[in-house]
Amino acid sequence: MLMTGAQYIESLRKMKTRVYMFGEEVKDWVDHPIIRPSINCVAVTYDLANDPEYADLMTAKSSLTGETINRFTHLHQSTEDLKKKVKMLRLCGQKTASCFQRCVGMDAFNAVFSTTYETDKKYGTNYHENFKKFLEMVQKNDYVVDGAMTDPKGDRGLAPSAQRDPDLFVHIVERREDGIVVSGAKAHQTGTINSHWHIIMPTQAMKEADKDYAVSFACPTDAEGMYMIYGRQSCDTRKLEEGADVDLGNRTYGGQEALVVFDNVFIPNEYIFLAGEYDFAGMMVERFAGYHRQSYGGCKVGVGDVLIGAAALAAEYNGAQKASHIKDKLIEMIHLNETLYCCGIACSSEGHPTQAGNYEIDLLLANVCKQNVTRFPYDITRLAEDIAGGLMVTMPSEKDFKSDVKVGRNGETIGEICNKYFAAAPSCTTEERMRILRFIENICLGSSAVGYRTESLHGAGSPQAQRIMISRQGNLEAKKELAKAIAHIK
Ligand code: SF4
Ligand code: FE
Repeated sequence: MLMTGAQYIESLRKMKTRVYMFGEEVKDWVDHPIIRPSINCVAVTYDLANDPEYADLMTAKSSLTGETINRFTHLHQSTEDLKKKVKMLRLCGQKTASCFQRCVGMDAFNAVFSTTYETDKKYGTNYHENFKKFLEMVQKNDYVVDGAMTDPKGDRGLAPSAQRDPDLFVHIVERREDGIVVSGAKAHQTGTINSHWHIIMPTQAMKEADKDYAVSFACPTDAEGMYMIYGRQSCDTRKLEEGADVDLGNRTYGGQEALVVFDNVFIPNEYIFLAGEYDFAGMMVERFAGYHRQSYGGCKVGVGDVLIGAAALAAEYNGAQKASHIKDKLIEMIHLNETLYCCGIACSSEGHPTQAGNYEIDLLLANVCKQNVTRFPYDITRLAEDIAGGLMVTMPSEKDFKSDVKVGRNGETIGEICNKYFAAAPSCTTEERMRILRFIENICLGSSAVGYRTESLHGAGSPQAQRIMISRQGNLEAKKELAKAIAHIK
């Protein structure tokens, strides 16, 4: 069953998810002005799947049931599927100019599916069957599942089991006949509050002493003992201003991050995917990170498309569109953005089947993709800000533009004065000019900058995490042999 965006939003109202923000519990979180844009953003992943125009990208045939499902719940069956995933994420980025959050779950499905298969093969456990049953339930109900990996980590120099506070990594506190009890937290977790379920994965490779930390499981978002503390975003309280519209830049969509706390949460056996087999923690991490690094070659490119369009409009509205340096800056932005897309498509085209049968990206290329994503969106935002001009950050508020308080010698209002001095090319109204500048501000510096800028740096792993993988996968020895052969060195 494919849900619509409206049905998805209604389904959230039935959940008893515990959310805290600004030091207080938020009861009506589905309609909270700071949270709602992130919910609208996920709703787009439903509405696009119901649109015949996008059915090929947004839906797939389930490998488990043969039913038509939302591609966000799909196990990739080919390199074609991997490429369609990247294109789907680009499309969603183009429609929202934000982080639409649902990809972390899709990336977790594909990583956990293949890792549980290999864990079972070695240990005779039943994790793969557990996972398949869980995913069938998810596909049937078209749920949003959050994939959660990053622990708070405490002292970075110490292993999970050596931390002063054992809760700094999610871990098993009790093993029972019917399941496990877990405690700990996941930090800066994307799309947690508006997910129906969570899949928890370990954050790094583990040694024997960290056995209790090598844990993966699924739990409903409103599980007893689970709660979230909402993350702040730049300019977030603008959303609380009455009648706010232009000043928000993007009033409909946005991303969401929070601290997710597990305070002695009970997980029944059927939802456990790893519980102590520490030698498989690293595999799960590497695969999830690989898929998510591929994802960025889609989602960030989609947001980049919108930002490039906004910069081109700002140039037009300023009357500067014919200047050769402006044209060249737009070309540079397109070049950088499409380079990221090339990386997303390349690591997908070079994918391969796992032992479990689903397809995995080429890990080296996926890491190169994400490494470029840690840089190019910064260059693209710099160029967008350059083209937009300083007014993007010095402009009066929309209340000023609408004010009828008289200030001028001849009785002109604040609104009239603002409109007089901020008018530009005749191709746009002053309000349209404000709108596009505020929109650029939103992506480069405002609440969407979490998704486009800083998340490009740290999301799916900070730059150094990719460099470690690039050094591991780069096969320097083979390259040395190439050089030796041609230089006639024995
Ligand atoms: Fe999806 Fe991109 Fe957001 Fe990650 S950052 S959840 S890939 S939109
Ligand atoms: Fe992310």
